[in-house]
Amino acid sequence: MRLFLRLPENEALEYLPGQFLELLLPEGKTRAYSLASRPERSHNLELHIRLVPGGLFSDQLLTSIKEGALLRFRGPLGSFFLRQLSLRPILLIAGGTGFAPIKAIIEETIALGNSRPIHLYWGVRSKANLYLNSVIKEWESTQPHLSFTPVLSEPGSEGEWNGATGFVHEAVLQDHADLSAFDVYVAGPPQLIESVKKSFPAQGLDDQRLFFDAFSYAPG
Ligand SMILES: Cc1cc2nc3c(=O)[nH]c(=O)nc-3n(C[C@H](O)[C@H](O)[C@H](O)COP(=O)(O)OP(=O)(O)OC[C@H]3O[C@@H](n4cnc5c(N)ncnc54)[C@H](O)[C@@H]3O)c2cc1C
Repeated sequence: MRLFLRLPENEALEYLPGQFLELLLPEGKTRAYSLASRPERSHNLELHIRLVPGGLFSDQLLTSIKEGALLRFRGPLGSFFLRQLSLRPILLIAGGTGFAPIKAIIEETIALGNSRPIHLYWGVRSKANLYLNSVIKEWESTQPHLSFTPVLSEPGSEGEWNGATGFVHEAVLQDHADLSAFDVYVAGPPQLIESVKKSFPAQGLDDQRLFFDAFSYAPG
């Protein structure tokens, strides 16, 4: 679900694309969500939330939280943001709703007219989990320096799929035998981040060039 938060009048949130906020829930609980839009629109914040069945916040969001509800948060938080001073080509790797901070980063590069080559890989289970197709199509048609590879881990029988399959980090490793030239940004489930940390340095990635945002579950 895309959740849009409208800040109170005369309030704005300054943040770096890629950062996240923490929703403050009852009993001192918190849930972190990445900001999916760039700060220009910071009066309206966009979040992408995956339904975790029985999940304290995500399940409630789909079942009982109504439009207009008042939510509280703290932020911005985190050090996952684009290092603008680098001139190196960029690999952006998203797992599931890890697309949210990656989208904010891409929108920022477009707004700044930055033409560093960007290759976006997005790993999801099935084709139905690829959302915002029209936004990606628009990027592909207007940004010649940006390319996109969707990767399905469970293509199943759901329509025809001629694209990449398997784990998203493996698709990147297959396409790029030598990763030494790149800056790599990864967002999504902790297992994805761990796989990248383990396998990418063996193909030449300098670990100083790896930036990641692990969507770990909140404790308790
Ligand atoms: C920095 C950061 C950024 C994040 N950004 C996003 C984001 O942009 N979008 C987003 O959807 N999530 C994001 N998350 C994850 C998010 O904070 C919550 O953990 C997630 O939404 C589940 O919260 P919940 O209250 O719905 O479920 P909970 O009540 O926390 O979990 C219910 C049960 O499901 C299990 N569980 C929780 N999450 C998962 C999962 N992903 N897969 C399988 N089992 C699970 C738990 O162990 C528990 O047993 C981020 C996390 C971090 C740390």
